[in-house]
Amino acid sequence: MTFELPNLPYAYDDLEPYIDSKTMEIHHSKHHATYVQKLNDALGKYPDLAKKEINEILKNINSVPIEIKTAVINHGGGHFNHSFFWNIITPDKKKRELKGKIAEAIKKEFGSFDEFKKKFSEAALARFGSGWAWLVLNGDELEIYSTGNQDSPIMGGKTPLLGLDVWEHAYYIKWNSDRKGYVENWWNVVNWERVNELYEKKA
Ligand code: MN
Repeated sequence: MTFELPNLPYAYDDLEPYIDSKTMEIHHSKHHATYVQKLNDALGKYPDLAKKEINEILKNINSVPIEIKTAVINHGGGHFNHSFFWNIITPDKKKRELKGKIAEAIKKEFGSFDEFKKKFSEAALARFGSGWAWLVLNGDELEIYSTGNQDSPIMGGKTPLLGLDVWEHAYYIKWNSDRKGYVENWWNVVNWERVNELYEKKA
């Protein structure tokens, strides 16, 4: 078995005007597709590993053979992170409402949603170069942090609930170097229903 590029659960232009169609198309059909291709290339000589789910491989990254470990971290992480990312954004307005247990947990941990949003955005803007901002469950605790490149929280045993891709490839077509504009607009398309499901599964 080889890994495959998952279909998006919506059309490329469905997130307009917040995320533009061209960015979505290139991001999914070129960037994500390349991670999948290079992950398959790396696992070519390791059929037993290629049979596993990507999250299982990343959770046990230290048991991946050293000669392909970096490739699996980069391209396996890229595949996992992007598959995750497409599902925590949505064109469905009903799913964009923050409610349920995650809403209560955010208020409890960060004081208010605005304070949470501020801290998460700061993590996204402060990440130097390419990487991701995350809201994760670290054990029972909600935590905001960022990772470099395609390092995935699941490699560190954390459970990602929300993730924001701040690689330039995620925004340069529309926003050029304005990462802040991209981050501010991205909040409009977060699939809070999905984030709540992920939280309830683990909390
Ligand atoms: Mn990306």
